[in-house]
Amino acid sequence: MIDHLSVPRKEAQNMLKKLRDLDAVDCNYKVIAEGDSVLIPLKVQQELPRIAMGYFRLKHDGRPDLRRSVKPVKFSGSYDVIGSIAIMKRGEMDDPEKLARNIMESRKNIRSVFLDKGVKGEFRTRDLELICGENSTKTMYRENGLRFAVDVGSAYFSPRLATERYIVAKGTEDGERIIDMFAGIGPFSITIASMKKCEIYAFDSNPAAINMMNENIAMNRIYGQIFPQLGDSSHMIENYRGMDRIIMNLPHSSFSFIEKAYASLRRGGKINYYEILDDAGLEKRMERFRDMGLELRSKRIVHGYSKFLNVYSMELVKTAV
Ligand code: SAM
Repeated sequence: MIDHLSVPRKEAQNMLKKLRDLDAVDCNYKVIAEGDSVLIPLKVQQELPRIAMGYFRLKHDGRPDLRRSVKPVKFSGSYDVIGSIAIMKRGEMDDPEKLARNIMESRKNIRSVFLDKGVKGEFRTRDLELICGENSTKTMYRENGLRFAVDVGSAYFSPRLATERYIVAKGTEDGERIIDMFAGIGPFSITIASMKKCEIYAFDSNPAAINMMNENIAMNRIYGQIFPQLGDSSHMIENYRGMDRIIMNLPHSSFSFIEKAYASLRRGGKINYYEILDDAGLEKRMERFRDMGLELRSKRIVHGYSKFLNVYSMELVKTAV
């Protein structure tokens, strides 16, 4: 049985497009029309994106899309869409160019298709190879009702965290003092400040990310205040104490910054922590957090990373002084 989202027929096209942009649709199954409703097949374990909340989610046998099984393509099957840019994941592809052309033909807003050859270095920038279309890595992207200028070649950005950013913003209270330790082009900070009247110190060591963050702050209506700061978080954070919340979105190496974050947090303050872990690694982290006086309030998988690894999101509360 496959999870499907049941949507009224007249809203189906719009919802399908939005869910495809979020890479939430299971393309191996057909979209099914049933009476006044349309059933959209969802990827397994995918958390329901915000735009789909309020709609009915149900189990259905599903109708395999036979066009796909007749002509199998050796492809990891996934690509991200950021505005007018599609980024294909590395996999066993028979013909990346053919696939890129298919993406451009089926999605009229896509102007460039790149192959992602990996996220590298301190700035976590993507090594991209143009496969089809315009050789431009700049685009405009919409998420949670906000607009972002993104240059996928010079600063990190992932649309897969859209729901996560919304959940964190929703759980934030007015008046919080927050550090966004690895803020990138600012999506966590801007989403929070668009919903809550907070004071946010947004750090990043990549000058291109800080420039885009400033542009993105100016482009959106926000109620809170955001103070972008260029430099190494592990030093800058030492100037701040008694913070209410610290966002640690550096999934490859967040753990090496945890002591610094802990020292800057007030008792009762929260850390939104992201890390790539396997099951054993997760157990070890839980133990370490307990020993430090960090209590786990929530934990979820943001998305899979490889066969045994997942990107985890955890909310931790400082219980000790
Ligand atoms: N939070 C952002 C988002 O949701 O798009 C971006 C997260 S990205 C995974 C990590 C960011 O941390 C990159 O923009 C990188 O430049 C920055 N970074 C890495 N090490 C850093 C450090 N020591 N101090 C400040 N920023 C750092």
